[in-house]
Amino acid sequence: MQYRAWFSPVDGSPGRWPLHEVIYRAPSGALLEVEHDHQALRARSPAAWMRLFEERYLRTQWPHGSGVWGKKEWVQPHIADENIVSLLEGGTNLFWAERYGHQLGVPDLWIKQCGTSHTGSFKDLGMTVLVSSVKQMIAEGKPIRAVACASTGDTSAALAAYGAAAGIPVIVLLPRAKVSAAQLIQPIANGAIVASLDTDFDGCMRVVQRLTQDSTIYLANSMNSLRVEGQKTISIEIVQQFDWEVPDWVLVPGGNLGNVSAIAKGFDQMLDLGLITKRPRLVCCQAKQANPLYLAYLKAKAAGRPIALEDFEPVVAGPTLASAIQIGNPVSLPKAVAALGRFDGIVEQADEAELANAAARADRTGMFNCPHTGVALACLEKLVAANTITRGDRVVVISTAHGLKFTEFKTRYHQGQLGFSTPHANLPVELGHDPGQVVDALHRVLDERTS
Ligand SMILES: *Cc1c(COP(=O)(O)O)cnc(C)c1O
Repeated sequence: MQYRAWFSPVDGSPGRWPLHEVIYRAPSGALLEVEHDHQALRARSPAAWMRLFEERYLRTQWPHGSGVWGKKEWVQPHIADENIVSLLEGGTNLFWAERYGHQLGVPDLWIKQCGTSHTGSFKDLGMTVLVSSVKQMIAEGKPIRAVACASTGDTSAALAAYGAAAGIPVIVLLPRAKVSAAQLIQPIANGAIVASLDTDFDGCMRVVQRLTQDSTIYLANSMNSLRVEGQKTISIEIVQQFDWEVPDWVLVPGGNLGNVSAIAKGFDQMLDLGLITKRPRLVCCQAKQANPLYLAYLKAKAAGRPIALEDFEPVVAGPTLASAIQIGNPVSLPKAVAALGRFDGIVEQADEAELANAAARADRTGMFNCPHTGVALACLEKLVAANTITRGDRVVVISTAHGLKFTEFKTRYHQGQLGFSTPHANLPVELGHDPGQVVDALHRVLDERTS
């Protein structure tokens, strides 16, 4: 069976382009999306797709053991297996947050640990697709000299790793002093050309669009809709992990808004191909310091209608601990607005104290959350308090990065250096070396904690 896919404009304007073409926007200026030949995909029954995905899941046969490439026919069917650049992304833990969920009053709470991956964030899922596509284009003779991105940290780490694995030069543009030490050292270690610019993410985005006007430098930002194809497998994987049942809610932190649209796309594709029969409700979770979508949502809500593009105005994003979503003018806004419409979506926000305390509170139940996941958890806590999300609901929170990439954030939290009160802080007990005194002191601390 020949499965086909192509780029088409999201605004419904005419045109379709092959996926190996270097193109990021339609002539109308609209974003593109990858469209699949669903008629061909329908030739296989829903049950047969489920069986195929199950057979491949986390197995060793190249490249199908990857959570992304196990769904290759739905992602990028035309890529030759020898051009796939995979670091075995996906297949991440769907963690039952039993203790935290009980504390909140939502016992059926699950955290999709997408940050447990090669570069420590869920950006690996999209980057394997983009870099594999570039490798295929180069193999077909396209004159691509390098791949470039603007980044709030995680995109550049993923691009640098996949580029290095493929032997393709990488250029990353980072806003100076706005990414974590771990995020900065990753592309440096992988040998990328790392440009530290005296601006914010939105400024880096403007520069990379200029840089990639030269078609030999390929643009890796999420404006490039190839990445959405990898990110959307999060939804398919979640449903698969629930034995093909759809949760009631999916919460995801949102900055540039490519991911909220990707998650919607994964569910829509399953719905259209008959693997599921309903949609979950989507919640896009923003940091209050970078909340243009939330402001648009409030405006629409006050007017008593669904969110629309006209409600939106860009903002200058303020500094936030959730640095990967410090974005004031999200590129994928039109896709996200459409997705929220289809999924009866909600936009919620969390301030700095709320996101940090939610992350720390959940850490006390066995997690190790990054600040963006903290935003989503804080929004969850608010929606539960408002009785929007209720006790019987099955809820999934997308954890987008590994906490180990954000140790400065955690250190400052526990040292009480964040400028707000940190009730879940936990400091080491400083002791000498005398065994008797140490043991006595530890008994005292244990007694205090358990009394
Ligand atoms: C990229 C990223 C996000 C947000 O995804 P968008 O598509 O930009 O909305 C959230 N969390 C982390 C850790 C990220 O790297």
